[in-house]
Amino acid sequence: MKVLFLDQSGKPGGAELCLLDIVKPFANTSLVGLFADGDFKKLLETNHIPVQVLTTQAIKVSKESGLFSAVASLGQILPLIYQVIQIARKYDLIYANTQKALVVGAIASFISGVPLVYHLHDILSLEHFSQTNLQVAITLINKFASLVIANSQASKTAFIQAGGKANITHVVYNGFEPKNYQVEETEVKKIREELGINDNFVVGHFSRLSPWKGQHILITALANCRENVTVIFVGDALFGEDEYVKKLHQQVKDLGLENRVKFLGFRDDIPQLMSACDLVAHTSIAPEPFGRVIVEAMLCGKPVVAAKAGGAVELVEDGINGFLVTPNNSEELAQIINNYVEDKVNILEIANHARINASHRFNGDFINYKIQELLKTVISKN
Ligand code: UDP
Repeated sequence: MKVLFLDQSGKPGGAELCLLDIVKPFANTSLVGLFADGDFKKLLETNHIPVQVLTTQAIKVSKESGLFSAVASLGQILPLIYQVIQIARKYDLIYANTQKALVVGAIASFISGVPLVYHLHDILSLEHFSQTNLQVAITLINKFASLVIANSQASKTAFIQAGGKANITHVVYNGFEPKNYQVEETEVKKIREELGINDNFVVGHFSRLSPWKGQHILITALANCRENVTVIFVGDALFGEDEYVKKLHQQVKDLGLENRVKFLGFRDDIPQLMSACDLVAHTSIAPEPFGRVIVEAMLCGKPVVAAKAGGAVELVEDGINGFLVTPNNSEELAQIINNYVEDKVNILEIANHARINASHRFNGDFINYKIQELLKTVISKN
């Protein structure tokens, strides 16, 4: 099967890391076309996946953009669309992995006759997108996509509520390679020493720094946690949220928590860092479409507390394989952390159960098999 994968990002966010694993079995026959240069391209190359940067000109539309900038951007992307049409003719499928890739992929599919698949990594609601963006996405998907792969039931439900076609939409969770999350005790010790966290109780937060990811909620919670609790933030402002980063640093200072909070920036040793934590916190204040970090924490055998909304609710069963807290509620979060500091035995049992369960439920080979079967049905119908 020859697939032309399209993704707008040069940076490895959750959607790109998911795509990396989906693309691996197609490495010999397929191509990843990117709309920006950057670390994601390097990551694909390291994994021996053919990749081509199709444009380096930034497409000036954001999730909040209105009709005017959407139309204006169309002129800007015409050369890109033309290029994608030429390339697509050599492939069986166009697989759009992001919203701008959907716009380009849909037009290219219409003109070239190559079927379009859309991997939906977003909750298509007004909480995350402008009305114009929503309408453009839904219209293009309904008109041109043969298949939609939704990354959670929450993403699928929001898509249908916004007017998307239910009959072409299938939920497939992100897949992971469990053995990548098994970290030797010596490595864990080394990281804890390097970070200078020694005997402290460490809460890890793994996400790009962005207001809706709610890092500020964890900082507020920390002020109500015991003195030996420290927090590490792993991740960077990937999409220009520099003001938020400044605010986070100011908040830490105002609360006098400088010695209990570390910002580590973007890292590519997530399994090692997660394994060095005592607990992983997910604090998104808007519904999370999937929440890769939640599954990754489970695979590392770490207790995870997640904000009760969106895809997170499908991943975590409260008190069974992790904990759920009300989004935007730092008191509840502090309470869970303090409970854990007091009673480790029970919580470690929960984490162990989560690890075993997640390694089956999100097994990368099984997920890739499901996706390949879905893609085959699209090709056989065309
Ligand atoms: N991640 C990473 N390095 C970092 C921070 C995060 O590789 O410094 C990874 C993280 O392990 C996860 C992904 O980025 O696999 C984030 O995916 P998630 O679904 O949690 O959120 P998204 O970024 O898609 O909103």
